[in-house]
Amino acid sequence: MQRIAVFTSGGDAPGMNACIRAVVRTAIALGKEVYGIRRGYAGLIEEDLFRMEKHTVSNIIQLGGTILQSARSTEFLKPEGRRKAYEVLKKYGIEGIVAIGGDGTFRGARVFMEEYPDIAIVGIPGTIDNDLYGTDFTIGYDTAINTAMNAIDNIKDTANAHNRLFFIEVMGRDAGFIALRSAIATGAEAVLIPEEKTDMDELIRMLEYNYHHKKRASIVVVAEGDDAGGAFQIADQVKARCPQFDIRCTVLGHVQRGGRPTCMERVLASRLGMEGVRALLAGTKSVMVGEVHRQIVFTPFEQATKHHQKINPVLIEMVELLA
Ligand code: ATP
Repeated sequence: MQRIAVFTSGGDAPGMNACIRAVVRTAIALGKEVYGIRRGYAGLIEEDLFRMEKHTVSNIIQLGGTILQSARSTEFLKPEGRRKAYEVLKKYGIEGIVAIGGDGTFRGARVFMEEYPDIAIVGIPGTIDNDLYGTDFTIGYDTAINTAMNAIDNIKDTANAHNRLFFIEVMGRDAGFIALRSAIATGAEAVLIPEEKTDMDELIRMLEYNYHHKKRASIVVVAEGDDAGGAFQIADQVKARCPQFDIRCTVLGHVQRGGRPTCMERVLASRLGMEGVRALLAGTKSVMVGEVHRQIVFTPFEQATKHHQKINPVLIEMVELLA
């Protein structure tokens, strides 16, 4: 394999640039040529790609977002779209791809390789949600939880100054990983996540108990996909039953997607990028490269897309016990 390509796909995540840099530099160090595909599968279909050199990735390791941009492609869902993508790869003589993205990206890669087995794709987990099976941490997660933690710390200051109860919504439509870790790290009174059924009676009992024991400033971290609703909906339910509470809501939103990647993030992204290229050049394909207990692990796309990472129940217990 002489020529490979790299792209970022699905939701962007801080650390993707560090990973792109590692892919490009590793491939060049091993005497290979690298192309950067802009906007994931959409850019591939539209032939939006360019040759990358060592200097193309200078000074990007510290940047959030992705210099290759990211996109979702409905065309790639159809066989005609994938055919176009294949023709572009053939035209450029590209035989292998490092795909940085989430499970949708890997599902697409799997379908594509079944149709075009002469193209090898290796995946790297890039999503702030940390919900991918086959890695302890995904690229973007550490930065997102630190961003959420810093924002919640700021809110805690004002919550304490005014004895207010805050519901803070963090990202996580299907997964509570961001909510859980940021709740532990900020000493939140409660966390509501999609993986656990929310018991409103229990939540109100705890908040009322605190209120009557002179603890009137509280933080409840809510994952956006919680079964009881987002922060505003939950706050409305609590307000209706406890009008004595001084309640405020904050939705952190897209601030969690951007920003300078943390040190942990940059190191993880660099390692996965380097290992992804090594694996591809060694003939490995159709796997996601992850890190489990600090060791590199290859998980077949089939498994990585079928399973989800599980929440550690000890972390939930920690929020309850330490609040
Ligand atoms: P995130 O988890 O951050 O949203 P993702 O990689 O899961 O990232 P998706 O939008 O689900 O993001 O997938 C990225 C792209 O992969 C889709 O826009 C689509 O082009 C392609 N894709 C997803 N599933 C399939 C599939 N079953 N067949 C072909 N292509 C697919």
